[in-house]
Amino acid sequence: MFQQVETERSDLGRGREESFLLLFEANPVPMWIWDHETLRFLAVNDAAIAHYGYSREQFMGMTPMELKPAKDHGGIREIAQGKTGYQEGRTSQHITANGDLLDVAIYGRSLVYGGRPASLVAIIDITARKRAEDEARSTREFLSTVIENVPVSIVVKDAADLRYVLVNRAAEEYLGLPREEIVGKTVHDIFPPASADTILARDRDLLQIEDCSTLDGYQVETPGNGIRNVNSKRLSIRGVDGQPQYLLVMTEDVTEKLAAEAKIRHLAHHDPLTHLPNRASFNSHLSETIDRAEAAAGCFSALCIDLDRFKEINDVFGHGIGDGLLCQVAARMREVSGIAFIARLGGDEFTIILQGCADTAATFAEDLLQRMSGDFEVEGQRLRAGLSIGIAVYPGDGKNATTLLSNADAALYRAKADGRGTIRFFEVEMDKRLREYRAIQQDLQSAIARGELALHYQPQAKIGGEIIGFEALLRWQHPVRGAIPPMTFIPVAEESGLIVPIGEWVLREACREAATWTTPLTVAVNLSPVQFRHGDLHTLVHTILLETGLPATRLELEITEGVLISDFTRTISVLRRLKALGVRIAMDDFGTGYSSLSYLQSFPFDKIKIDQSFISNLEHNQQSAAIVRAVVSLAHGLALPVIAEGVENSAQLEFLARETVDEIQGYLLGRPHPIGHYMEATGHQPGVATRTAIAS
Ligand code: C2E
Ligand code: MG
Ligand code: MG
Repeated sequence: MFQQVETERSDLGRGREESFLLLFEANPVPMWIWDHETLRFLAVNDAAIAHYGYSREQFMGMTPMELKPAKDHGGIREIAQGKTGYQEGRTSQHITANGDLLDVAIYGRSLVYGGRPASLVAIIDITARKRAEDEARSTREFLSTVIENVPVSIVVKDAADLRYVLVNRAAEEYLGLPREEIVGKTVHDIFPPASADTILARDRDLLQIEDCSTLDGYQVETPGNGIRNVNSKRLSIRGVDGQPQYLLVMTEDVTEKLAAEAKIRHLAHHDPLTHLPNRASFNSHLSETIDRAEAAAGCFSALCIDLDRFKEINDVFGHGIGDGLLCQVAARMREVSGIAFIARLGGDEFTIILQGCADTAATFAEDLLQRMSGDFEVEGQRLRAGLSIGIAVYPGDGKNATTLLSNADAALYRAKADGRGTIRFFEVEMDKRLREYRAIQQDLQSAIARGELALHYQPQAKIGGEIIGFEALLRWQHPVRGAIPPMTFIPVAEESGLIVPIGEWVLREACREAATWTTPLTVAVNLSPVQFRHGDLHTLVHTILLETGLPATRLELEITEGVLISDFTRTISVLRRLKALGVRIAMDDFGTGYSSLSYLQSFPFDKIKIDQSFISNLEHNQQSAAIVRAVVSLAHGLALPVIAEGVENSAQLEFLARETVDEIQGYLLGRPHPIGHYMEATGHQPGVATRTAIAS
């Protein structure tokens, strides 16, 4: 280190000068003397030459200013002018001969050297120390940034009194307190007493027994963040004496993670709308139930449930209300079901697994129907939702899941066919019918392409006998099953949507045929409600009329009340547009459905067709006669012509004539046949027939 030097402003004595020079020259610390007047170096020692890399000659031609950045130049001048002295150990930077920057601490004294006012300066190179300090500082900053920002709560407590000394941001969030309210406190100062006791016991255990402990999956009541699910790790940090100095606690708050996992698990096994178990959990529950029943030689019942007319509710009121209804239905099912397992498989399809055999299932199903019979109120709409229920009982109706379910489904299918709000148990016969149904559905898909469909035409006449038109009736000649009646395959076509392409084929075929007739008779074509719901019926009819050249006035479209039920407003608008084309609209099968007067009023139908069931019963049933009378007077009151279907004999014809029915259709005039057959039988082109047709 630099030693004290003579500072008196007087010439040094000779002996003292020598020892000073010795001290100067031989000193391992870089030193120099510079002249206050010229500012030039007067002397430099070997250490300075070695350290800075300038030769002695170079030094002697320089001033200290050349070693310094410009900002420090003023300081040198002030010292030279005697305005200030040296500040002990002041740090600065010096430039070496090869351009390196050194961090230096400067120690200097003013003195008289060789008779001149000068400064003796000693330099301590602190570059390495400063770099080490800078590195330590930046490491500290780096670590505290990491600690501050890790998403795990980190707290450090003093091992002596277990007061908090460090808290990171995640810890503030986890504890629900700002760090100012934590640092310096003990757990008892901030936690609820029970939590504080537990934490303190854990902290003490760690300090006394082990250096590190991990605890997963427990709950903590925090000071300001409620109850949290956490995993934690404790570490003791020992001082140089080997004794615990600090306690580090890292806590991972997994509350949200657990909730998200639970939600994902719930979604995987539940239907998001009703929160009932979904198909996947139903399947696994069913197979577990089968395993248990098999082991215990017990029985249980599987119920397949379908909401009656749900599709109509969706169509008429919209999906929002449909969804609301499903939720309420699910809630009522839950109320009735007790411990039974209910699942929603999709749409309006529900299933229930119930412990107990047929008797239990029957009582349960009755209760369920009863509970559903009350009105539902969804968004201000009063709705009814009947159920159809099919039941299969394990093991009699199926020993494995697939058979049991498909049999419960067959029973449901039967229940629906037998009328709404019905319960049916599986019977072997149903299975056969359901299989047949599926086979028909399968074959129907290729029926058009394979040319198996045909139209037969049935004449319609004025009551006096003049033929006025033909109703086109669809026939399916199945290659194996033979002729399949429309009453069998049309519902299948409607359910599968196949009626849309089939209906289009019928319409085109009938119009094409009628356009070839020499007499301008009408052709009547039946439309299914499904055709109104799918596609653009108006455009289809218009296109086919243009395509076939049939005048619109010769086409009569027959609809049933079912068309109006599903979406009244839309259907009426389609009907109006069809009518605007010039096409006529007849109400088919009147008397069998709702026979709502409001339907007759809401649209100007061109004709009412009385259903054949009333005509065939005329002779045996007084009521049928009364109904026919009532319908005729109603229709005439509305100025609508009436056609009676299913007229088979002259007694019926006479009755209808007396009741002033306008037109007839039925076997009396001829059964439906390909049009060529009709011409052969009557010897007439369509339309030329007269009363003789009735007599034939
Ligand atoms: P619908 O439109 O009421 O047709 C009248 C049905 O009564 C026809 O039965 C016809 O053969 C039958 N019928 C007519 N006169 C008599 C009679 O004097 N005695 C008896 N016993 N029956 C008579 P079909 O052809 O079996 O058709 C049944 C139903 O199938 C039709 O009833 C109609 O609803 C539907 N259908 C037929 N063809 C089509 C079609 O192309 N499209 C659609 N959507 N439905 C069709
Ligand atoms: Mg018809
Ligand atoms: Mg009819």
